[in-house]
Amino acid sequence: MSDRSPVVNFPVLREPLLSEMSGPGRNGMLVPTPFDVSRCTDVDVPSLLPALPEVSEVETVRHFTRLSRLNFGIDQGMYPLGSCTMKYNPKIADEIASRLAPVHPCDRRAFSPVLKHLFTLKTCLQEICGMDGCCLWPAAGAHGELTGMLVIKEALSARGQTRTKVLVPDTAHGTNPSSCTIAGFTTASIPSGRDGFLLASDLKGFLDSDVAALMITNPNTLGIFEQEITEIARLLHENGSFLYMDGANMNALVGIARPGDMGVDCMHLNLHKTFGTPHGGGGPGSGPVLVKKELEPFLPRPRIVQDESGQVSLMGDCPESIGQVHSLLGNVAVLVRALVYILSLGGEGLKDATVRACLNANYLKNRLKKTFALPYATPTLHEFVLTDKNQKPQGVSTLDIAKALMEFGFHPPTVYFPLVVQGALMIEPTESEPVSELTRFADAMEAIALAAGKRPEDLHETPRGMPCGRVDEVWAARNLVLTWNDLNPS
Ligand SMILES: *Cc1c(COP(=O)(O)O)cnc(C)c1O
Repeated sequence: MSDRSPVVNFPVLREPLLSEMSGPGRNGMLVPTPFDVSRCTDVDVPSLLPALPEVSEVETVRHFTRLSRLNFGIDQGMYPLGSCTMKYNPKIADEIASRLAPVHPCDRRAFSPVLKHLFTLKTCLQEICGMDGCCLWPAAGAHGELTGMLVIKEALSARGQTRTKVLVPDTAHGTNPSSCTIAGFTTASIPSGRDGFLLASDLKGFLDSDVAALMITNPNTLGIFEQEITEIARLLHENGSFLYMDGANMNALVGIARPGDMGVDCMHLNLHKTFGTPHGGGGPGSGPVLVKKELEPFLPRPRIVQDESGQVSLMGDCPESIGQVHSLLGNVAVLVRALVYILSLGGEGLKDATVRACLNANYLKNRLKKTFALPYATPTLHEFVLTDKNQKPQGVSTLDIAKALMEFGFHPPTVYFPLVVQGALMIEPTESEPVSELTRFADAMEAIALAAGKRPEDLHETPRGMPCGRVDEVWAARNLVLTWNDLNPS
């Protein structure tokens, strides 16, 4: 690589791979001979393994500790990444999930209690959402969207219809149109109204006999509740179309309002946002799909069912089902965590978490709107969007503000999304943060705005003192370096 390397503090990032650290004969603690697994079977285990790196225990521990310090997580500080609900998730849920979840389906004694817990979870989620049926297996939000849309397609086909179009508001998450496309639909983007929510009167113009569904996020990615949702549902149903709700923002509604009561026919939840598992980090996640009665027969198989005696089992014989969407039990550890989260908070606790999430966001919004531009005056719930409109004339952009926040020990908010807002900064503090931390965040944002007025060029150099400074994105895009070895020229 030339000395035009875009990485500012390059040496800190030069953590070698384990294979580069490897040296013959270096080892961790050795298993004593009587426990040598290769002696227990006829299989020659070592010959089956690829060449593993040889590193001592202390080198290995240091390697991973160093790597972990290059990362930023909720255990270190506030992570207000809008729409991602980066809340603190109690460790007790991890502990219980790690004891319960690693079951093998052949181990009947361990398997049936887990099935019973999953049935309880399914019942809880149905109650929270006001829906009739639930499939726990999809592995992510986007996977849930795809599953839900395939269910809707199958239901339409059972009605003897082929409808090809799904309407998606312009505030939608990128996964919405792509899931619909993968499910075989075409999508049409419809504009949200001037106040940041979809107007039933605007929807009317888009409805025809080819519309299979509307896929809407509620509250939407501006943090605004879709105020005309019941009228929207009525219009869709009158048109023979379904209402799909992206429930990734359910942290704003749990215990307070139920999508089922709003007329939603099908939705997904992000358990790895709202219910006890952190979002991000590459998974695993879980995106259960919830449906009203008419759609239930089409849910993926197997289905968890309970007979009159209370016995819970898996039912594979579902002739109308769209089929299987995941290996047995989905990402079961994430499911168990969600159940622990729900049961330990209880109804009142869940409601309290929702109220606090909304209160925290509104506290921050009301302080920061004095310094940063607020594009919509409409009341918001658990998150809100600001812009760089006031700082732009000083030469400071949303990117500069986000990078500068890192120097104060905060993860940046979501930036440049939703697309309907120019220079968006989408902030979601969640219920986890005490008021002292919210205040510290607001102080940091105000300090950055002040610096923008005085020494804007300083903000172009941020973040300083991080493992990786500002990168030259244009350079990176034009000189793609996709392998580790290229980053380490001899
Ligand atoms: C996170 C999110 C998704 C996608 O969820 P994944 O689990 O990342 O696939 C969809 N819609 C909204 C509004 C989201 O915030």
